[in-house]
This record gives sequence, structure tokens and C-alpha cells, in this order.
Amino acid sequence: MKKTKNTTTTTNRNKKAEVEALLRGNGFKVTGPRTAILSLFSEKCAPMSAEQIFKKLSPDTGVDLVTVYRTMASFEEKGIMKRIDLHKDAVYFEINGDDTHHHHHIVCNGCGKIEKMEKCPAEPLARTAASHSAHFAEVTAHSLEFFGMCKSCAKH
Ligand SMILES: [Zn+2]
Ligand SMILES: [Zn+2]
Repeated sequence: MKKTKNTTTTTNRNKKAEVEALLRGNGFKVTGPRTAILSLFSEKCAPMSAEQIFKKLSPDTGVDLVTVYRTMASFEEKGIMKRIDLHKDAVYFEINGDDTHHHHHIVCNGCGKIEKMEKCPAEPLARTAASHSAHFAEVTAHSLEFFGMCKSCAKH
């Protein structure tokens, strides 16, 4: 995504305030490592593993991999982040958005590319699950990921 210099500065400033509000709202103290890690995530970004987060952090944040793991665990505990199972070796995290951001992913088994699916295909399935269940009145959430080959990997 291309942005002019000015827009980037404004976006960063808003983003910083947003990140700090999210931390405080969940009972966290605003610290350098927490701010740096949470700033890497947005509703639009692809899920990331702890290693990927670590690699994306600029070295001058001084955040090590152990801190990334620990911070992500505390974010997950407070519900800021959720982990998703993308059938990869590592655990992937994404920001735990509200229901309007409900989505799924398709993962390429060839190159590992992750695409977000904004349209949920699973609502009828959730209703079926509830109506077929002996003990549940309703299904209120679901997680579902898709796996396959992306167009460029499918060519080879
Ligand atoms: Zn691929
Ligand atoms: Zn869904």
C-alpha cells in the first residue's frame, strides 16, 4: 500500500493512541514492548506467529523473542488477541476484533500465503449444528479455516 509521507505520520499517531487505549482498556500498563508488538497488528493484517512478530519488530525496540511469547500470551488471556490454527508449525495470532470483523482464512499448502475471507460461508452450518444438537440451544461462534493451493502454486 502506497502512502504519502504526511498520511503515514498521521496514521501512526492515530494508531499509537488507539494501541495505548486498547492496552489501558484491558488493564495493561503502556510499555514499549507491548506498544511495539500491538502496533504491528491491525484488523486488516494477516495473522502472525511469534517468530514473525519478532522479525517485524525494529531492533531498536530491544524486544526479544521470549518477551514476544510472553506478551502474546497475556494479550490472548485478556482477549485482545486470539490464536488461530492454520495447520502450521507455529501458533498464529490475530487481533480479536468484534463481530463485524468476523472472517475466515484460506491458507496455501504450497507457499503458506494466507488470504482473508470476509464473507462467512458458515452461518447455515452453525444453525444446522445447533438444531442437530441434543444439548445446545444455540451456536454463538465458530472458527473455520480453509486450506488449498493458491493460483501461482497451482500452476507448478
Ligand atoms: Zn501458494
Ligand atoms: Zn464464519
